[in-house]
Amino acid sequence: MDGKAHLAHRVAWYLHHGSWPDPEKVLDHSCDNKPCVNPAHLRELMNWQNLRRAVPRGDAETEKRRSRQRRADAKRRGTYQYSEGW
Ligand SMILES: [Zn+2]
Repeated sequence: MDGKAHLAHRVAWYLHHGSWPDPEKVLDHSCDNKPCVNPAHLRELMNWQNLRRAVPRGDAETEKRRSRQRRADAKRRGTYQYSEGW
């Protein structure tokens, strides 16, 4: 876009909102699925919020189960396949 490479989820944000995300902020994926570009899953966070969120809250097994649960929830809501066809 504009002869430059942009991160896909930031482009998704731009297409959805009509403006680029605040460069001071990071786009957080509520579904924790990095390649996902569903604008409904993206929100602007201050960097420190995202960093804090990235700190593991449990042991590896707990985190794995939580991320499975989040994907199952997204699937049930029918939003997980949104990025198909991009
Ligand atoms: Zn997503």
